[in-house]
Amino acid sequence: MAVKKKHHHFPSELRSGPISEDWVIIATGRAKRPETFKKETKTEFVEDPKTCPFCHMEKEKDKLILVFSKGKKTEVSDDLGGWTTLVAPNKYPALIFSPSLHAEKVGPYKRMDGAGYHEVVITRDHTRSMGQFSVEEVKEVMDVYHERYLDLMNEPFIQYVSIFHNHGKEAGASIYHPHSQIIAAPVIDPDLNRAVLIAQEHYKKHKQIVYKEMNEWEMKNPDRIVFQNKEFLVLCPFASKAAFEMIISPKRHLPYFERTTNEERKYLAEAMQAALSKLYKGLNNPAYNFYLHTAPCDGKDYYFYQWHFTIIPKTAAIAGFELATGIEISTIEPEVAAEFLRKQ
Ligand SMILES: [Zn+2]
Repeated sequence: MAVKKKHHHFPSELRSGPISEDWVIIATGRAKRPETFKKETKTEFVEDPKTCPFCHMEKEKDKLILVFSKGKKTEVSDDLGGWTTLVAPNKYPALIFSPSLHAEKVGPYKRMDGAGYHEVVITRDHTRSMGQFSVEEVKEVMDVYHERYLDLMNEPFIQYVSIFHNHGKEAGASIYHPHSQIIAAPVIDPDLNRAVLIAQEHYKKHKQIVYKEMNEWEMKNPDRIVFQNKEFLVLCPFASKAAFEMIISPKRHLPYFERTTNEERKYLAEAMQAALSKLYKGLNNPAYNFYLHTAPCDGKDYYFYQWHFTIIPKTAAIAGFELATGIEISTIEPEVAAEFLRKQ
């Protein structure tokens, strides 16, 4: 079945089938020939600072979205001299800005234009990664996430803003220089959607917020706690999907990341810095992904949800069993992982 392409300018389209109903992004505009998927063609990994695009952002000055210098938002100056964190549009966006959003049914399936936003958050140093950052430097990154979130959530059609960070080639980074990505999409992330529905059901049945119950239990039984401060808890989850997986969540019940205060983000930065530096030291700088899950910004009330960051070190490749069953295999008990990380 051929899907007619009416909107040629989009780099992608969103599709969903009637069984899983999960949305996927299909890159339709990047003109990748099937032959380029052959095993011998290795994906490029930009490592040399001389060719690193993020080391030469002065060339992109006109396109920059946000510039921070030593903890403060600044204007884009002529020389860009003192920048410490930048936000720029992604050069190879998964979704692009559009004044309208076209959605349709194609037989039993649904499709939608790949409309949205795709940005990169770049920190200055080519080699120093977030696991080596000070609390103040991590705070700046959290503030940049927060600021971009507030802007993107109010754009037309945007239902969800995803913020994630890939560290290391094994974790899917294509550029060595530390950077995070922000994708604002017209649909809700399927994983999050599932979690939201479960949390809602739980609230209906038990009149309890499931995330609050979990955090209260964890604080009474601190085997899996890696780090905590006044506002945040870092723990290895009871049912970890990967070895050394960590969740960073607020102790106070908060569904929406965008509603965190500056004071709360100071504690968040301390918790994030502790988690990432423990990974860096304890596992000798492993590849990892971290991502934010927060209540969708589609205007509905998600009081039963709680925002959090998940950090997943790339300690094993996804194998057939995980793909076939959806059951992840973690090779260490989270209680043992937490004990190890606490000591780092
Ligand atoms: Zn660089």
